[in-house]
Amino acid sequence: MMNLARYPRVTLGHLPTPLEKLDNLTKELNGPEIWIKRDDCTGLSTGGNKTRKLEFLMAEAIAEGADTVITQGATQSNHARQTAAAAAKLGLACHLLLEDRTGKTDFDYKENGNVLLDRLHGAKLERSPANPDMNGEMEKLAERLRAEGHKVYTIPGGGSNPTGALGYVNAAIELIYQANTIGLKIDHVVHATGSAGTQAGLVAGLAGINSGVPVLGIGVRAPKAKQEENVFALASRTAEKLGIPGTVKRADIVANCDYIGEGYGFPAANTIEAIRTLARTDAILLDPVYSGKGMAGLIDLVKKGFFKKGETIVFLHTGGSAGLFGYPTDFLTNA
Ligand SMILES: *Cc1c(COP(=O)(O)O)cnc(C)c1O
Repeated sequence: MMNLARYPRVTLGHLPTPLEKLDNLTKELNGPEIWIKRDDCTGLSTGGNKTRKLEFLMAEAIAEGADTVITQGATQSNHARQTAAAAAKLGLACHLLLEDRTGKTDFDYKENGNVLLDRLHGAKLERSPANPDMNGEMEKLAERLRAEGHKVYTIPGGGSNPTGALGYVNAAIELIYQANTIGLKIDHVVHATGSAGTQAGLVAGLAGINSGVPVLGIGVRAPKAKQEENVFALASRTAEKLGIPGTVKRADIVANCDYIGEGYGFPAANTIEAIRTLARTDAILLDPVYSGKGMAGLIDLVKKGFFKKGETIVFLHTGGSAGLFGYPTDFLTNA
């Protein structure tokens, strides 16, 4: 079994997040019963999935005596924004290295949405051109700050390492407890997968409690083989950290990367359509980079009969709605 209380943790999120039925989307699609796990409601600076990871990461930073945390992400990174918020709340300095991953130059993308919140929380922003080794760039920044006398804790992109993934082990336990309480048999969990920590933690947690619940990650960046390899590697390391090595099998890791469109940070036509649909059916706000793609995948897989009537699907809403304000021009037409 898993005992999460033995790892240092700070309280940042409003947990447990609600598990709700999406009545109107379920009716509209006329397929499986669709539920939503509201990790968009974790409460920290408009919420999102990084809050759970940061409960363990920030506790480790404090335990190591850090006065400064650094992380990196794309310009409209939700992870960067939640890290800035967590650092503010805990009294640590925060440096964010924001990568120009899209080449977008409009003001809203560069300064509104998550970037506005980064600034409000008092984070220091540095911009970087697109770079395949952003974690390496972050280490260079860390060395500069250490040379100035700071005690620096670096958080990898997306907070995705075994410590951060503990947040989603916790989410797995929480979800199964909620489902048990109301007698809900979950056939599939679906969510957007990027830097892999969410899916890795979920799968390790669900395997660790022998839930038998499969997870489908909808990719937002890497091709399927690469994404599954990344998730499997991190899920395996997370299981080792939990003291249950070998619990996660390669077959437990499934990603579908058919909904990426043009690439990371570029919403596809079906991303925009999924965002509009959920806003109108159940008044749920998705985002253009992650949860909109995850939901586009879920909707399409229902329409194709991959998820069937009589089944119960839980969409894990990983948050990101602050990012909508970085993409207003994608929603100008009332299609
Ligand atoms: C980071 C993020 C994800 C992806 O989670 P990973 O742990 O990076 O795979 C999904 N949705 C939103 C809104 C995110 O910010």
